Amino acid sequence: MLICSTVKDLREALSSKALSPVGFVPTMGALHAGHISLVEKSVGENPVTVVSIFVNPAQFNDRNDLENYPRMTESDIKLLSGVLRTDDIVFIPPEKEIYPGNEPEVIFDFKTLDKVMEGAFRPGHFNGVVKVVSRLFDIVMPDVAYFGQKDLQQVTIIRELVRQQNRKTRIISCPVVREPDGLAMSSRNLLLDPEIRQHAGIIFKTLSAASELICSTDISEIKEFVREQINKTPGFSLEYFEIADDLELKPVTMKTEMVPGRRYFGCIAVRAGGIRLIDNTEFNCSVIKG
Ligand code: AMP
Repeated sequence: MLICSTVKDLREALSSKALSPVGFVPTMGALHAGHISLVEKSVGENPVTVVSIFVNPAQFNDRNDLENYPRMTESDIKLLSGVLRTDDIVFIPPEKEIYPGNEPEVIFDFKTLDKVMEGAFRPGHFNGVVKVVSRLFDIVMPDVAYFGQKDLQQVTIIRELVRQQNRKTRIISCPVVREPDGLAMSSRNLLLDPEIRQHAGIIFKTLSAASELICSTDISEIKEFVREQINKTPGFSLEYFEIADDLELKPVTMKTEMVPGRRYFGCIAVRAGGIRLIDNTEFNCSVIKG
C-alpha cells in the first residue's frame, strides 16, 4: 500500500494506476474492527481502495472533544497494512491540504435531516461532516464510498449530499460491528474509564430489549423504559432516545405515525462518564430477531 499526505501525490497515484472502480473509506483514525469491516468490504469490491485518516476539526462542536480525540497513526498504518493491497492508498493529510484557507464557507441545507437527534445536540456537527466529506470526495473522486450504519443519521445526510450535488459516488452503508458485550465499537471507547467500560454493554442491551417491545408497547412507554435503564446505571445518563426512519429521520411519538414499508431505528446517545456514545438498532414489528 502507498501512503500519501498531499492531494497532489494522491491524485498522481490514482491516475498512474488508472484502476476503477475506486472504493473509499473516510475515517478519523484510531482504527478498530468496525473501520476494518468497511475497508475489507471495499477491498473485496474494488481493484483500488483509498482509506483516509483525518481528524476533522470542522465537525467538533466541543473543543475538549477534539483535543482528546485519540490519535494513533502508527498503529493505524500497521492495522491497514494487514488488509490493504499493493495498489491501495492510505491518505493522511495535514489540515492545510483539506482546508487550504481560501475555501468559501458553505452552509448546507438539509431541511430537518440535520436538525434532529445528533443535529439537535451537536450544533454545526453535520455541516462540518459534509464539509469534509464533500472536500474528500472532490479529492478522491470515488465510485463507491463506505460508511457505517452506526452513524445512521450521517449516512442519510451523506446520501442527501450526493443527491444535492449530483455526484456519481455510490454510498454503501455497512452493519455495526460490536464488542462481545454488545457495545458498538468506537474510537471513543478507548477514552472510557474501566469502571464505566465494564457497564457500557447496558446501551445495546437496553436498545435490544426496547426493540422487542415495539409491537406490544406504546412509544412513550418504550422511551421511559430506555431512560430508566440507562439512568439507573451509575455514571450513565441518557441524552436522547428516538425512533426514526432512515429516509426522513423523523422521530415518531406514536406507532400510527410509522409509515408502512419504511425501516425504523431506535437511535440513542448516552453520556458514559464524560464520554458521549451513540448507537442504534432496527425497530420494526416485522423484523425477525436472530
Ligand atoms: P470515524 O473514524 O468514527 O469517523 O468512523 C469512520 C467510519 O467508520 C464511519 O463511516 C463510521 O460510521 C464507521 N464506523 C465507526 N464505528 C463503526 C462500527 N462499530 N461498525 C461499523 N462501522 C463503524
